[in-house]
Amino acid sequence: MMPEAKKRVFVGLVSVSLVILAVLAGAGWYLVQKGSKAAWWLLLILLSAVIGFLIYAGLGILGLLVSLLTGRTLPILSRAQDTVAFALLPVALWVGALLGVDKDRIRASFIEVNNQLVRQKEKRVRPQELLILAPICLQDADCPRKVTNDIRQCRRCGRCPVGGLLELADKYGVNLAVATGGTKARQLIRDLRPQVVIAIACERDLVSGLQDARQITVGAITNQRPQGPCFNTQVDLDKVEEALRASLLDAGD
Ligand code: SF4
Repeated sequence: MMPEAKKRVFVGLVSVSLVILAVLAGAGWYLVQKGSKAAWWLLLILLSAVIGFLIYAGLGILGLLVSLLTGRTLPILSRAQDTVAFALLPVALWVGALLGVDKDRIRASFIEVNNQLVRQKEKRVRPQELLILAPICLQDADCPRKVTNDIRQCRRCGRCPVGGLLELADKYGVNLAVATGGTKARQLIRDLRPQVVIAIACERDLVSGLQDARQITVGAITNQRPQGPCFNTQVDLDKVEEALRASLLDAGD
């Protein structure tokens, strides 16, 4: 699926979620008409909160739509669109499940939205402030090298993408680490304190990582799984280099 079409899935599902919330608010208002005075006040407070949320979420959706259609972020809506995108992701997944939309399709859509927002922020950092975070499943399953302990153990034999990532890390002078899972990835981010992370993983792990690391700029690249999940996976090294050049000061782009 093309990136634009991917993004529409997430924004569409979030919009449907808002319509559902609006219907719930309407139902609440109807109950107010029927209830006692105490219930009236209680429901009025709840309704005010829902309406406030709907207005904020509506501004966030507007920001996302403007961003999607024009390729530009409106600074005044930037915070609302980020908050709404992350806050409504679980709702989009829930609505998607009701409508029979594949979860990975929704996650891929969210990743495209995230990457567009990251690109529009145009944040550029020095090489030492950037970390490429790769999953262990990229390593050839038969390779005996302990690249999770020390990436320099890789002999760049060409059997898996780890060697190519190491070439890119050396070419641009950035950090590269291979993580065995989410806990190790979080620990690496804590230790290395990067300003920008280029994360490679499956859709589920990427979305989980994006939610955990909202204070950091994370460009997300989905791996390819020709032999099934978590086994001898691949990554498009051109995409990694493109993300590097877009994130580094003086990288020439
Ligand atoms: S490229 Fe590196 S990690 Fe991959 S199989 Fe070769 S030595 Fe092992």
